[in-house]
Amino acid sequence: MEERDVRFVRLWFTDVLGFLKSVAITPAELEGSFAEGIGFDGSAIEGYARIQESDMVAHPDPTTFQLLPWRTQSSTARMFCDITLPDGSPSFADPRFVLKRALKKAGDMGFTFYTHPEIEFFLFRGELVPGQRPIPLDTGGYFDHTTLGDGTDFRRDAIQMLEQMGISVEFSHHEGAPGQHEIDLRYADALTMADNIMTFRVVIKELAAAQGITASFMPKPFTEWPGSGMHTHMSLFEGDNNAFYDAADEYRLSRIGKQFVAGLLHHSAEITAVTNQWVNSYKRLGGGGEAPAYVCWGRNNRSALVRIPMFRADKSSSARIEMRSIDSSSNPYLSYALMLAAGLSGIEHEMELPEEAADDVWALSERERSLMGIRQLPRNLDEAIREMENSELVAETLGEHVFDYFLRNKRAEFEEYRRQVTVHELTTLLPRV
Ligand code: GLU
Ligand code: MG
Ligand code: MG
Repeated sequence: MEERDVRFVRLWFTDVLGFLKSVAITPAELEGSFAEGIGFDGSAIEGYARIQESDMVAHPDPTTFQLLPWRTQSSTARMFCDITLPDGSPSFADPRFVLKRALKKAGDMGFTFYTHPEIEFFLFRGELVPGQRPIPLDTGGYFDHTTLGDGTDFRRDAIQMLEQMGISVEFSHHEGAPGQHEIDLRYADALTMADNIMTFRVVIKELAAAQGITASFMPKPFTEWPGSGMHTHMSLFEGDNNAFYDAADEYRLSRIGKQFVAGLLHHSAEITAVTNQWVNSYKRLGGGGEAPAYVCWGRNNRSALVRIPMFRADKSSSARIEMRSIDSSSNPYLSYALMLAAGLSGIEHEMELPEEAADDVWALSERERSLMGIRQLPRNLDEAIREMENSELVAETLGEHVFDYFLRNKRAEFEEYRRQVTVHELTTLLPRV
């Protein structure tokens, strides 16, 4: 830190809903923060503690030390923290701890869990005006090469910043909607990746603000255009071996890989309240635009919930599966913990992979789908909450504290939404009745 003239260190952690929290310390405090941690009032953090047990302690993880490239005035660094109670025991509310506990279970089974997300987001002109439709920065579409200044530059700057912070980017492109972009991160173990996703969101927002534009990870800002997903590719490794790879299989997918997919499909409805945690998330899932609405898997099928990518499938290290429901505004720690737990449950119970859904599931009739045994994902937050309430897997993986808090918070969100009289009703019904 002396060499780099670091003046401030930001200690980062995440609340239960996936918002980043930050406390800045000076270099003089650093040794103390490693030895004892930094105390804070947990009752003021969304989902952390009840008032009577509010003291919490943040312990920085030195392996996550990075300089913040956008702080050019005085050098500032950041570290992610693990949160404990004053007696040193882990805080059950800390999403990072929830993911670590799930990863430990995978570790006990001999697996390391790797993920890589395709993160979609929107860029809008200027600042947002509350309640008003945002204006996309450009008019491009999928893979369009837009002119300079229309977001292409933005992606280049964002990628440079991410790389400076030790986050490798695989590729980036314009997405299907005007102003919509995608950046794919190179795979990493799931804990590092969840940290990377939190950093990614800050980088994108900071960079946008610096350029006088606005970035958003909202799942579905426009009725008529596709929303922003965070498709996540997953694999389990046993040492150096990809446990999902089988050269002899027609999908190049091992028995373990198939069981993992079967587990994901089996538990998908229960975990949706977390992977798609906002009222708005369900506008994306129900809105077409290559977002999944049905529980099925396929190879090139972009309406499927889980896809087995055939690109580079012959390379053992690349064998992976892609989960397509999760969106860009979910809590990555909690979501990855649940996606892993769902897959591991498939392995533990040796679940059978259902038949591949070959057709465009959207195009089938309700009856055809039900004959094929294809269930629907929850259609709104209320349905998702009801699925989650009865899930042992979710209760066990999140732990009682996060499970209860999350359900309470999301019920309140849905109730508030349910009472709203919307512009849609005023436009379609008011003039007619
Ligand atoms: N934007 C689409 C979604 O919401 C995905 C488009 C794609 O296949 O990358 O999931
Ligand atoms: Mg995409
Ligand atoms: Mg994808």
